Amino acid sequence: MRKQMVAGNWKMNLTLQEAIDLAEQIASRLKDSTEASTPIVLCPPAGYLQAVSSITKEIRGLYTGAQNCHQEVSGAYTGEISVAMIQSCGAEYVILGHSERRAYFHEDNILLSKKVKRALAQGLKVIFCCGETLPERESEKHFDLVKQQLQEGLFHLSEEEMSLITIAYEPVWAIGTGVTATKEQAQEMHAFIRSLLREIYANSVADNCSILYGGSCNPKNAKELFEQEDVDGGLIGGASLKAEDFLAIIHSL
Ligand code: PEP
Repeated sequence: MRKQMVAGNWKMNLTLQEAIDLAEQIASRLKDSTEASTPIVLCPPAGYLQAVSSITKEIRGLYTGAQNCHQEVSGAYTGEISVAMIQSCGAEYVILGHSERRAYFHEDNILLSKKVKRALAQGLKVIFCCGETLPERESEKHFDLVKQQLQEGLFHLSEEEMSLITIAYEPVWAIGTGVTATKEQAQEMHAFIRSLLREIYANSVADNCSILYGGSCNPKNAKELFEQEDVDGGLIGGASLKAEDFLAIIHSL
């Protein structure tokens, strides 16, 4: 049985105190209700990883994740963060391949494949994002594009490594826009992604891989998205910055 999961990507938002307050509100409301088998992951800015993980580690099923990591172990890479640094702050997950990293920091599939390999080699779990832009969808290239992102970014992994990956389908046109993919669009792409996994790996890998939806998911639309057969939860941006909204999304699982 694959896990349902919700992750919050706080991006470059909040002061340290605001981040602590948000993590504490979420943690206190999840106390006693979380299941280790339904991970909830808070992904704050890198500078707040330790403060947030000191809160999440007290709650079963609540984890901290980073928003990026470097592909090398260590060295002269000014401004970057390594996997070991992330782990030393108590975080267990990393988001890789977010469309903002792809667009603004020119991260391509080849670079991302190295980051994924590095993260897994050192024991960090990966939430790997994929998704098409609006022109790509309008020209009906969205399936090919997502396939290429997964083939080049992920499918070099062994079955064992693949079991540590969560995939997040995030259509770029839905991220931060207030326009959400319909439940049919989400299900169609999630089923396609699972069929790709089935082509490359054993059925058990495809059956057990959690595929999250991301893109203007909110308390109003979360339930119908999460009810889709191949949608296993969400990667949440804007709505993860308000405890009430994020908790309502979690409770839509
Ligand atoms: C995201 O950036 O991963 C995301 C899903 O953002 P939003 O929920 O704000 O669309």
